[in-house]
Order: sequence, then C-alpha cells, then structure tokens
Amino acid sequence: MDAALGAPAKMADREDDLTPMMAQYFELCREYDDSLVLFQVGDFYEAFCEAAERVARLCEITLTKREDSTGEYAMAGIPIDNAESYIERLLEAGYRVAVADQVEDPDEVTGVVDRAVTRVVTPGTLTEDELLRSADNNYVACLTASDTDRDASTGERDRARGTARPRADENGPYGLALLDVSTGDCYATSADRLDSVADELGRFAPAEAIVGPDAPVDVFDGDCMVSPYERTAFETDRARERVQAYFGDLALADQAEVRACGALLAYAEYTRGGNPDAGDIGDDSTAAVAGPGGTTAEGEATAALDYINHLTRYDPREYMLLDRVALESLELFDRRAVHGHQGLTLVDALDETACALGRRKLNDWLRRPLLDEDRIAARHDAVAELTGDVTLRERLHELLDDVYDIERLVSRVARGRANARDLRSLHDTLAVVPDVEAALADVESKTLVELRENLDSLADVRDLIDRAIREDPAAELTEGGVVKPAFDDELGTLRETEREGKAWIDDLQAGERERTGIDSLKVGHNSVHGYYIEVTDPNLDSVPDDYTRRQTLKNAERFVTPELKEREDEIIRAEGRADDLEYELFCEVRRDVAEESERVQALADRLARLDVFVSFASVAAKFDYSRPEVGADGFEVEAGRHPVVERTEERFVPNDAHFDDQDFFAVITGPNMSGKSTYMRQVALIAVLAQAGSFVPAAAARLPVVDRVFTRVGASDDIAGGRSTFMVEMTELADILGNATENSLVLLDEVGRGTSTADGLAIARAVTEHVHDEVGATTLFATHHHELTGIADELPGVFNLHFETEREGDDVVFEHEVAPGAAAASYGIEVAKMAGVPDDVVARSRELLDESDAGAAAEPAVETNGHDSSESVRVSNTADDPDDGDRDDRDVDEPADSPLAEELEALDVATMTPLEAMNALAELKESLDE
Ligand code: ADP
Ligand code: MG
Repeated sequence: MDAALGAPAKMADREDDLTPMMAQYFELCREYDDSLVLFQVGDFYEAFCEAAERVARLCEITLTKREDSTGEYAMAGIPIDNAESYIERLLEAGYRVAVADQVEDPDEVTGVVDRAVTRVVTPGTLTEDELLRSADNNYVACLTASDTDRDASTGERDRARGTARPRADENGPYGLALLDVSTGDCYATSADRLDSVADELGRFAPAEAIVGPDAPVDVFDGDCMVSPYERTAFETDRARERVQAYFGDLALADQAEVRACGALLAYAEYTRGGNPDAGDIGDDSTAAVAGPGGTTAEGEATAALDYINHLTRYDPREYMLLDRVALESLELFDRRAVHGHQGLTLVDALDETACALGRRKLNDWLRRPLLDEDRIAARHDAVAELTGDVTLRERLHELLDDVYDIERLVSRVARGRANARDLRSLHDTLAVVPDVEAALADVESKTLVELRENLDSLADVRDLIDRAIREDPAAELTEGGVVKPAFDDELGTLRETEREGKAWIDDLQAGERERTGIDSLKVGHNSVHGYYIEVTDPNLDSVPDDYTRRQTLKNAERFVTPELKEREDEIIRAEGRADDLEYELFCEVRRDVAEESERVQALADRLARLDVFVSFASVAAKFDYSRPEVGADGFEVEAGRHPVVERTEERFVPNDAHFDDQDFFAVITGPNMSGKSTYMRQVALIAVLAQAGSFVPAAAARLPVVDRVFTRVGASDDIAGGRSTFMVEMTELADILGNATENSLVLLDEVGRGTSTADGLAIARAVTEHVHDEVGATTLFATHHHELTGIADELPGVFNLHFETEREGDDVVFEHEVAPGAAAASYGIEVAKMAGVPDDVVARSRELLDESDAGAAAEPAVETNGHDSSESVRVSNTADDPDDGDRDDRDVDEPADSPLAEELEALDVATMTPLEAMNALAELKESLDE
C-alpha cells in the first residue's frame, strides 16, 4: 500500500500520546485511508509524515516539520487560497484527496478546533470549475456484475483476465451507472455482455469508476481510475432505498442497474463528506459530525446532492452505437485519440455553440446519435427553420452568449458552495430567457414551438435574487456587501444605524474645528485604534477637557471623546450584526434557490438544445450542408464531403455514395493517398451527423437508420499499447462479425495488413464472404489486396470502387475522385513512371507484370475461385507485395535479369508514404548511376 495513504506509521507508534490535533489528523487518515488527507490548520491545508513528503514533491512546496511533545513530523502545507491548483496535481498523480476543514470557529472554541472531511476530490467527481473542462461532461461510472447479492464471502476476482477485449458474459447481466456530479446528469443502463459494457464506457469515457463485487475491472481503459468500493453500498435493498431517495419510485427493473446506481450515489455522498463507510441512509454507526445547519454531515451530504434528481435510464439500443474504436478512428472527439493527427476533430468543426451548456449538449448528441426516425426529423425541422432565418439565428446566438453554465452553477448552489456572484450570474441568465422567448415568437417548427412553450424563465427565482442580492456583490460571504439592505427590515435598520453613525463622524471634523478653533484638526480611522481626532503638537493647548488620549504620534496626538466612542461602538455593533445577518439571509436565499434546482436544470436543458440547433444551423448555412432524409432503404449521397478534411483542403473533391440491397459491399482500391480512407469516413460521418440531428456536408443525402458504425483500421500500430497489431485487428474483426447487423455500417480500412500477404488476403476474403452472406451490413472495404476486386464477380452484393492517379506535367496528382470498377493492377508502375523512374525500368516492370498476369490467368484459383482461399494462400505465400501475390511463381522459373527491377519489384508502393516513395526512388536512381 502507498505509504502516503492511511494512518502514518510514525503516529501509530504513539497513538495514545498524540496531541489532540494530531490525534484528529491520525483518525481522519485512518478513516479515509484511500485518500490523501489535507488537514486545515488556519490558512493552510497540511499533510504530515509520508503524505507530507509526497505532497511536497508533487506540489513543489517546501517540506517543513512540526515538533511537539510526542516527536517530530514531516509537514507540508498548501495555501487554502489556491488549493485547487495543488489538488489538481495530486489528482494527476493518481490520488484522491480528502479535504478536512475546520468545522468550528476557532474564536469560539477553547481547545482544539474540530475538523471534518467536507469533500473527497476524485477525478470522476470534480465539481470545482477550475478543475473541469467546460465543454465536457466529467463522469464517474459504477459497474456491477450479476444480479445476486454476493457478499463479503466471495473471493476477489481474478483481475488479470489478460485478453484484449473481454467477451465473457458468465457474470452478466451487468449494471452500469454514470454520474456527472458537476451537473447532476445521471444515466443507468444494463447489458448482458461485457463487450456492450465496454462500448458504453467508450461513449461516456468516465474519468473514474467504482466497481462492485465480482465486476471486472479490465473493461476500463487506462485513463480511468478504477477502484472497488464498499460492498455494503451494493446490497440491493440499500441501493434501492438510496435510488428511491433521489429519484423517487423509479421502475428500475434490473437489479444490477439498481445496485450500480445506488452504490454510485453512495459514493457521491462519500465524496461530499458523507459517511465513509457508505452505510445506508441514516446510518449513524460512525460518529456524525455536527454541521453548521445542525444536521449531520451525512445528512448535509445528501441534501447537498438534491440537484441529482433525475435519472435517464436508457437502452444502448436506443442510440447509434459508436464504440471507442469508432470514436477514435472517426476522430469525433480528440480527447482520447491515440492515432490520427492532432488537428481538428469533428466536434471542433461543428462547434458554433454560444455557451458551455450547448457545447456539452453537442458532445452528448454526437456521442449518442438517435435511431428514431421521428425524433431525428424533429431535430432536422428545427435546424431547417433556423438555417433559413439568419436574423433569428444571429439573435439567438447573441442571447445565448450571455447564458452562464447554470447547470454547474445550480449544483454549486445545492451543495452550498455558490457565492453571491454565482446567484447574480443565475439571475442574469434568467433575465435572458424572456428575450429568447420573444425571439422565438414566430417560429413554426413543432420542435422550436415546444421548446419556446416550455421555457420557464423562473421569474420568481429571478425576482428573489434581484431583491436580495446586490448587483455587484462581494466575493466573500461573511463580510457584508452581499445582501441589499432593503431586502430585510432588520438589515435595513442596522445598515441605517451604521450609515447615520458614519455620517455623524463625517460631520465631526467640521464641528470640532469650530468648537476648538484648531483648523488643522482631523478626524480619521485606522484598523487598530478605530476612530480618532488628531491634533498636531503646536495645537495641543487648545484641546478641550472631554478629549481622551488614544495614541501618540511623532508630531501629533490622537484623541477620542465619549460621544465619538459611543458612536463608534454603535457602528461596530451594527456593522457586525449586519454582516452576520447578511450571511444568514444569503444562505436562506441560496437554499430557496436550491429548492428550484429541477426547474433550473430543465431550463438549462432547453437552452442547451436551442444552442445546438442554432449551432447546427450556422454550420449548415456557412458550409453549405443540406438536410438529409433519414429512413431510406440505402445510401444515396450526392457530392458528399468529409466535414473535417474539407476545412483543411484547399480544394476538396466531393464524391457520391450509393449503397442499396443490391450493392451493399464496396471493395475500394487505389494507390496510397488517393482518398480511400477519407471517402469511407465521410460516409460514416454523414450518417452520424444526420442521426445526431445535424444537416450533412453533401448536395443531397438519403440515408438509412444506421444502428452502429464499425470502423477497423489496419496498420495502425499500437506499439505503445504493447499488443500485436495483428492481434488487435483480429479481435476487432471478431467483434464486427459477431455484432454487426444488416443495419450497421462497416468500414474496413486495410484490414489484414498486420500479417503476411497470404494470411491477410485469406482473412480479407473470408471476412468479405461472411459479411456478405451472413451479415449483409453496408460495408466499405479499402484494401491493398488487389486480388480482392475479383470477388465482385462472384458475390452479388459486392462491387468495386477505385481512386485514380493522374499526371499533370511532371507531377503525380491525386484526383480524389471515386469511380466504379477496380483500380488497374499496375498503378504502382504507373506511379513509378510518373515519378520519373527511367523508361527502361518501367518497361521491364510492365513486361514482368504482363507475364505474371498471364500466369494468373492460367491459375484461376487466384482471381476467381474466391471461396478456395487455401489456393490463394498457396499461390502468394512467399510474396510481400500486395500487388503481385502471383508473381513469385514466375520469379522461380524466370529470375529477374535486372537487380534494379528486382529492387523495384520489392517495393510495396501501396503502403509507402510519399516521402518513403521519394527516398526509394532516389536510391533506385543512385544505383542506376553506379
Ligand atoms: P488513402 O486512404 O487512399 O491513402 P486518404 O484518404 O488518407 O488516402 O487521403 C490522403 C489525403 O488526400 C488526405 O489527407 C487529404 O489531404 C487528401 N484528400 C483525400 N480525399 C480528398 C478529397 N476528396 N478532396 C481533396 N483532398 C482529399
Ligand atoms: Mg488510407
């Protein structure tokens, strides 16, 4: 175990002798033994012993020590004022951080101040704005296995399952719950198979997960902090009780789901300073700490999570499935992309949202494209209307620009962590709503009409905040300047007393000058001595009897009078009481606002949707997208474009795509860099965009409802991941073959490259046959196996597409234009010719190729007898070049006479990058010169 966690050994040695303060620290460390405990001492959060050493190193702060009667302890303290930046470093280093605050006023207690853990900061339960990215949700996940309560007697599960993609379901059904504590978004779902769980996790990309007894931990990826959690929290009855307390009587039929959800809520409470043992609600087995409101810390934690009040139960089958591999290879969001360029992502290209609410919603919609034709059409209706109305669109964008992140704001309100400025921001956002309503007055599409009709401007809340909170309130809550005096009679009176007192003092100087005849007499105030009347030394003779000396300066004396003293006391009393009262009133207002969390969240949701509609419409208008028709039998895309690549290419060449029942499997050939991958992805992205509710980059598009996009990209070396590329490819392939349906869209990009050509070709053929015969999914298969193009003649659903290379002067240019039919087998030679390889070499290459084609004709197994893959294997098993699998036969009986030709032949043009090709050519030329 990490020595920085748990009760420090050094203190354990003298546990009974520890000073009261250190005993508190020791106890908290023992209780929160999975977290680094930061312990408030005045203005600092301190850590001691090993934890101090760790904190000092990670946060780059000085390691000091504390000495008391029991010994010497290493100590490191971070200033509370900017604790968040230090806490962030500890999180990055993989720690949870338990923040133990002083929960009593040090001025009001004798002896040691009580401290309690008020929050446990963990990667998945962040709520501090400083630590969160506004455009992303931050989820913590909870996974349970099997629907029976397995209790503590069950042994720890073997975690090293080892396989790249677990597919066992002996422990299903699995329950999965996800929660964004910063917004209150909560989801629950269940799945029979572990790979479905993995798919959902890919969609949400949780930062942290807790797992129940028997739940596998290897479905989570490396970016996710995974830990087992208290077994009791997973017990069905406790979990159900908890779920009911938050969400009311929900029809959560599935036990695994209930348990996941309940345990997740328990964990959320724990991170808010609830009972670390995660007992059932109301469990008082551990000493409860009295909070400021008189409730227990645990009760507080529960109340503070009131904004978690709606659960979205969903069936993964309600949304287009985009698993992790698909999200990455389509580059929807950059955050986890391991391959691919660090450039623009789809969400970047589409994001014209005005506020953080909209940005998160956009992410959410792209992550979970719809399957329901009516819901999709409803979104398109809204986008269509906004696309057609520039004025409305711009007006809405302008208004939404003033909308704060009220979703996270209201969660702070509920947790009692919002200050007066937050409330004012909420007020300002609410003030925008009537304008939004007015802007939408004339909309006609049902979606927008409904949206307008359901906008709740929370006039009551807005009015309350406006009456209570000053326009430009102080950031501190306890020092006044927060609540308007007119809001409360007593407060008004106190502030009036204060004001009158100060006015009296303001007049005092003139009055005393007149009374004493001392023209240089001054009335002033300092923080130590309070109010005074200052008289310079030469005038001291004129000082009246009722002046009492307060302070002596170098050239002057300061005095008070009984009257001044009295006024001063009055002011201080009024001010102090008023400041306290303001804080009380503020907390009341904050509680009242918290009561309305649900309405604020509903409003946030509508503003977010509106923002996404406006964003979709702006993009559509700016980049000439068109409204897709979703629900057709096949794909009819006219002049489609890749939404991201078209932004970076000077001249993007649009391409059509046609797939139907007759022709649903395209084998795509063409040289490297000709546009195969781009084309395949653009078809998938158009489907994703359409089902997310957006218009699409095409002149016209009729599309089917795609249930899932599979993308498998070969040759993407996962060397860093330590898995063999071939193994990865094959596991992913197995997944497609097992899960694709006829409504799926399958992209296979150079699959089968991770092995020898013979194997690769054999597998490619077998996959094609299987997908064609058994699955019937719309498939785009880009391949360097030219032999595969022959399948089109054998299987009715398969057809060929190819990309060509043209010559322009001395340059090889890629037309990027897709055309029917297979690419010429000799395109490698063509490219070589265009690139300036000497004519005799090119001619000889042609000769060799012709001979081998003749050989191939005499050996029909290669091109036509597609089902006999062993035959193809035999023919090409020594070749490495995908374009000449059959040439080796000829090589055996007729060795190439030119070493140059041999070298040239050995080049795998289809897999070379342009730079590699250049270098190879340079070498060839050099050897020719020799
Ligand atoms: P391939 O998969 O055939 O090797 P890519 O699809 O990766 O080729 O395309 C290579 C490059 O060509 C892309 O990065 C892009 O810059 C450009 N490109 C691809 N398709 C087009 C197109 N339709 N119009 C313009 N440029 C394109
Ligand atoms: Mg490619």
